[in-house]
Amino acid sequence: MLYKVFDDLYAFFWTSHMENNCNTYLILGKENILIDPGHGHLFDHVLQGLSSLNMSLSQIDAVLVTHAHPDHIEGVLQFGSGTRFGISKEEYDFILDYTAGKVNLPEPDLYLAEGELVLGGVHLEILETPGHSPGEICIYWPRHKTLFSGDLVFEGSLGRTDLPSGSASEIKESIRKVAGLEIDLILPGHGGPVQGRQEVRNNFQEIEGLFKYL
Ligand SMILES: [Zn+2]
Repeated sequence: MLYKVFDDLYAFFWTSHMENNCNTYLILGKENILIDPGHGHLFDHVLQGLSSLNMSLSQIDAVLVTHAHPDHIEGVLQFGSGTRFGISKEEYDFILDYTAGKVNLPEPDLYLAEGELVLGGVHLEILETPGHSPGEICIYWPRHKTLFSGDLVFEGSLGRTDLPSGSASEIKESIRKVAGLEIDLILPGHGGPVQGRQEVRNNFQEIEGLFKYL
């Protein structure tokens, strides 16, 4: 489901309960940035979203992934060499190591590391947020006080920590770290958004209440 969040931000929410796929987000600017392209076999979801915006894949200048789980990353293979691929170095090394080099991924053009990332005049902040996956990152967009939270936090819940190299203690620390940002909108990797400063605060409180079960 394509949803216009702001003039320069679209969300492609994955609403099917039949198959697992992630939400994809599109930032429009001098460079167009796509976050988390999703599963390869479900990539039509992204193509349909782009085509309803009269856009083609070749207009995507950079595709960034929050982490390397297949439901977030496989779609990067759909892009040509004109699209830059960004991932954290730790996550890239992890997935190569975990799959003994068998994963089919392009060489990264950008390593996403803690700090500012400017692409085509769009100022983003990368936060290293391990726990669900060892090299997961969140992307914060100060212009809209929006957090692309990957599988770190969702509406009313948090990412699994029982997957390879997941860590309950790290995810708690990572969540507390992003909770300190000024956030008006959380756009997570799965499920619906969390909108509004107070709703975001309540959501972090609710998640904090789940920490004792980890
Ligand atoms: Zn994941």
